[in-house]
Amino acid sequence: MSAEAVSSVGVVPLVDLVAQQAEVHGEVMAELADVLGSASFIGGPAVAAFETAYASFLGARHCIGVANGTDALELALRAAGVTAGGEVILPANTFIATAEAASRIGAVPVPVDVDQEYLLISPEAVAAAVTPRTQAIVPVHLFGQTAFMEQLIPVAEACGAALIEDAAQSQGATRFGRHSGTWGLAAGTSFYPGKNLGAAGDAGAVLTDDPAIAATVRMLGAHGSLEKYRHDAVGINSRLDTVQAVVLKAKLARLQGWNALRRAAAERYSALLAGIPGVVLPREAPGNSDVWHLYVVRVPDRDAVLAALQAAGIQAGIHYPVPVHLSGAYGSHGWVAGSFPVAEEAAGQILSLPLYPHITAEQQERVAGALGDAVRP
Ligand SMILES: *Cc1c(COP(=O)(O)O)cnc(C)c1O
Repeated sequence: MSAEAVSSVGVVPLVDLVAQQAEVHGEVMAELADVLGSASFIGGPAVAAFETAYASFLGARHCIGVANGTDALELALRAAGVTAGGEVILPANTFIATAEAASRIGAVPVPVDVDQEYLLISPEAVAAAVTPRTQAIVPVHLFGQTAFMEQLIPVAEACGAALIEDAAQSQGATRFGRHSGTWGLAAGTSFYPGKNLGAAGDAGAVLTDDPAIAATVRMLGAHGSLEKYRHDAVGINSRLDTVQAVVLKAKLARLQGWNALRRAAAERYSALLAGIPGVVLPREAPGNSDVWHLYVVRVPDRDAVLAALQAAGIQAGIHYPVPVHLSGAYGSHGWVAGSFPVAEEAAGQILSLPLYPHITAEQQERVAGALGDAVRP
């Protein structure tokens, strides 16, 4: 397609949040007027209201709002007793933040491989990576799925490690009817704008049923303090902004509806793309109800397919092109190419198609048409 043809039909973006924001605009602006008018910028009833609403939506006892998803994971790990030198097992194919959260404590991220079909952390690989230094296991609920929690729980129990879920991509997802983020000792989630539940900036939360973990997370995230100017531990500053809490509360009321739109869009892609030779479509694991944070296909010669899509105005993405253990940040830790073959092979094949609640059927047909053209020899 020529550049002119592209501009005449418009680009299909990977993510488009404008329609979502428009739906909550009136409600958010009215509440923001109160927040700004009363100059109550930190904490206050809006933060507590969102925390209560999100905990009750998930069926978790405690939700502690924090500044972002990476902080949420770090605080959950610290509250669970992870210390410098301890080992934290996590999947090789995740967003770098999962590993950073461990590194910021001085703990050692230990990547392991994932299953071939769903690219979720492999319980067998986790069991094989356990050592006397293992302090935590962090499954990542990748692409809107939920990891194989019922298999990971006994592995964690057998070695005494804390199971801390990375639920940044799975808001609203369930496995056997139980919400993602409520299976482990605690979970960290991110409300980065592009997540299924997204703020108007950075935000995150820790979820747990354990009152002691909840209290420790609150204390560590508030400069190690539960009582003003009494600091019992060296903490950090990680608060959920009041403004973000207002936005999140309004969007939470629509999350189920938006997740249903994502699911319908995923089903439309699967129908449109069925039968295109060489394109492997994503499937839902038995027991899971996924929330389709991303719709990830696998294609041979992925980089050429991606370039062809881009030339056709289709903004596809790759989540993630370089596994954690081969990244510049962690490449010096002694892992070599070939360490985690399933994650490495997938990194060369995966392609995330444009997906968001308000994507139109016409946009999806354009994506499917362009993908068909790109893979046909
Ligand atoms: C987005 C994300 C995070 C971290 O989120 P931030 O809010 O950007 O710190 C962590 N893990 C995964 C899997 C994510 O997708």
